[in-house]
Amino acid sequence: MIKLHNIHKSYHVGKESLHVLKGIDLHIKEGELVSIMGSSGSGKSTLLNLVGLLDNYDEGTYHLDGNLMKNLTENQAAYYRNRFLGFVFQSFNLISFKNAQENVALPLYYQGVKREERNAIALEYLDKVGLKPWAEHMPNELSGGQKQRVAIARALASKPKLILADEPTGALDTTTSYEVMELLKEIHHEGMTVVIVTHEHDIAEMTQKVIHLTDGIIEKITEH
Ligand code: ADP
Ligand code: MG
Repeated sequence: MIKLHNIHKSYHVGKESLHVLKGIDLHIKEGELVSIMGSSGSGKSTLLNLVGLLDNYDEGTYHLDGNLMKNLTENQAAYYRNRFLGFVFQSFNLISFKNAQENVALPLYYQGVKREERNAIALEYLDKVGLKPWAEHMPNELSGGQKQRVAIARALASKPKLILADEPTGALDTTTSYEVMELLKEIHHEGMTVVIVTHEHDIAEMTQKVIHLTDGIIEKITEH
């Protein structure tokens, strides 16, 4: 599903340049539940953002489902993002003036799905994450855990091949974090490929495979 070979990435700010990813080789197979673990600043988000086609890399190759992802135009990147990828973020990134159901339906709007069908599919996914009764609630009426469930339902609604989650439990208390992880595990059991970025050992331990990132290099990979 994902094949990275010798990936390098630097950021340039003024005259300064910061070498963040220093030769990443990584394979993630279809159906895997993987975490990328490392301390703050180790390059986790940088890595996930390039896998998610939200940013470019400087050197190496990245194949997504057999397609080379290099020098894509913004349109091409958007095409692959919409077809292949679902995103979940630490800060949920819900639209504050849209209710839960409308938030989940949004990616379907961009896929050209008609309103009635969009709403029906959104409700189905809200049901899946246990939030059907909350469909008409606005994000500010939901707890952190509920917001993240809405975000997960939204990621699933576009039927991606892969879910990318950057610190999905980062803004949640311990109990709620485990609940969100259980939901992601359930989704994985149904066949989804899930990649989770975290700096927390306990969260990473809940995945099959942990990729340890240290200072832009994969230090080791452990499997459970
Ligand atoms: P992590 O997610 O593991 O905390 P990041 O990938 O966000 O790490 O960041 C890795 C390093 O790159 C950090 O030193 C960070 O300050 C720097 N960095 C991240 N994004 C940018 C950017 N857009 N421009 C410049 N530097 C950045
Ligand atoms: Mg990060």
